[in-house]
Amino acid sequence: MSSINQSGWRPTTPEKGESQGETFTGNRALMLEEPLIFEIGSTETTGVDFAEAPAGKSRLGGLERSKTIGLPGLSEPEAVRHYTRLSRQNYAIDLGLFPLGSCTMKHNPRLNERMARLPGFADIHPLQPVDTVQGAFEVIHQLAHWLVTLTGMHSVAMSPKAGAHGELCGILAIRAALDARGQQARKVLLVPESAHGTNPATAAFAGFTVEDIPATEEGRVNLDALKARLGDDVAGVMITNPNTCGLFEPDLKAISDAVHAAGGFVYCDGANFNAIVGRVRPGDLGVDAMHINLHKTFSTPHGGGGPGSGPVVFSEALTPYAPLPFVEKQGEHFALVEEETAGEHHAGSFGRMVAFHGQMGMFTRALTYILSHGADGLRQVAEDSVLNANYVLRSMEDVLDAPFAKSGPCMHEAIFSDKGLPEGFSTIDIAKGLIDEGYHPMTVYFPLVVHGAMLVEPTETESKATLDQFIGAFRSVAARAKNGEPALKSAPHFAPRRRLDETLAARKPVLAYKEPAQAEAAE
Ligand SMILES: *Cc1c(COP(=O)(O)O)cnc(C)c1O
Repeated sequence: MSSINQSGWRPTTPEKGESQGETFTGNRALMLEEPLIFEIGSTETTGVDFAEAPAGKSRLGGLERSKTIGLPGLSEPEAVRHYTRLSRQNYAIDLGLFPLGSCTMKHNPRLNERMARLPGFADIHPLQPVDTVQGAFEVIHQLAHWLVTLTGMHSVAMSPKAGAHGELCGILAIRAALDARGQQARKVLLVPESAHGTNPATAAFAGFTVEDIPATEEGRVNLDALKARLGDDVAGVMITNPNTCGLFEPDLKAISDAVHAAGGFVYCDGANFNAIVGRVRPGDLGVDAMHINLHKTFSTPHGGGGPGSGPVVFSEALTPYAPLPFVEKQGEHFALVEEETAGEHHAGSFGRMVAFHGQMGMFTRALTYILSHGADGLRQVAEDSVLNANYVLRSMEDVLDAPFAKSGPCMHEAIFSDKGLPEGFSTIDIAKGLIDEGYHPMTVYFPLVVHGAMLVEPTETESKATLDQFIGAFRSVAARAKNGEPALKSAPHFAPRRRLDETLAARKPVLAYKEPAQAEAAE
């Protein structure tokens, strides 16, 4: 284990049988090691010089702190360097290609950021009088119009704050619609095996019973099995299209027809909409509700804590049950409708998803992205995302098993398995090897229907040159795995940290810092 010496840096101890690459400081070239802030700052020192507090009566009612607060004292340059060093250990979309699948957007257009920071959008308050925020409402209204048009649906709820939140919104609307028909007994939601984990979680959270629909050999929903399960207890289905195997579900219309005929509703997980935007309208496929991840398809940044935004589009049948509020254009004025209105629109609204109106900053970014592409540009987004993923698929299929390569072209992501790797080698070794090559690994071991899955989503924003370089690295690492090269088993070799015990970290996370002496005493 590393130890910390007095001046704060910690020399790393060479691992067994390995002395190469070790340095006196533990730093590697200009990549500096960085201990925890508690380890470098002393509680005895301080970076600020406060005047002695004047004596006076405490107004804390006996709740005064009894011990010192124990925060490390650092000077400004020390604090700045600490966080800058940590930030350099992050991999980011502004550094290089991010092959994660089921994730989409890998680009933050700077124009979006500029628009989102305009004071008229960034510095407003949700409780301001509506007459003072007409421009912001116009943005919400225009974006809503684009989303409804692109999906071929009837209405949209803008307030949900992420994909999973949107799923909950759609499923609550389905519940409200069924309850309004007196069909409380419809309690089962059918979810394909390959579904994103949020789908069954949402269904269960909303009080439904989740039942799996099996996949075909080709990685698609088994239509016959689905039809056979439909009945009076089924509320509907939750289907991702394109699905998590990166495949289009060509039977979605047939699925919707069968589900509707049996009295159920169709929820579509639209997180992968970037593969079909401008080419396919989910409304034409019989979808009743679908969330759109603005932070995936429409470029707003995600990862690192968001925020996300997950507007939900609704069919005519579900529109009366959609959540409040919504923005409505009344003549030249934009109004915020916050109460159920009689008649068709929102008469049976199930309530609200959030206190206010949704993520204004995300709306501004998404509309900026949409307007800068235009309708033809959005269509090209879909075409390029599919082209790029197929380029990766066809460039890799001779070195890695591609389980669905024979099912035809993939959509926006390419999937590989660990089949054919020698004993002792698996997906994790390829992922770790990619780190040494300067790439964040792809999504691994998901979806579960593929053994040792590697899911790569290049997105439409990567150039051919960037893809070629990635493919070169990916092929090289895959070949090393195929040849059973022992060094790959201990990759990454060049990262600030080697292989970590990820299972232990997930099962027994240590989230609070304890002084080494305290930690020892606790053991
Ligand atoms: C990302 C994703 C979700 C969840 O979206 P969040 O915004 O992360 O809540 C759901 N389904 C699929 C297919 C996704 O890719």
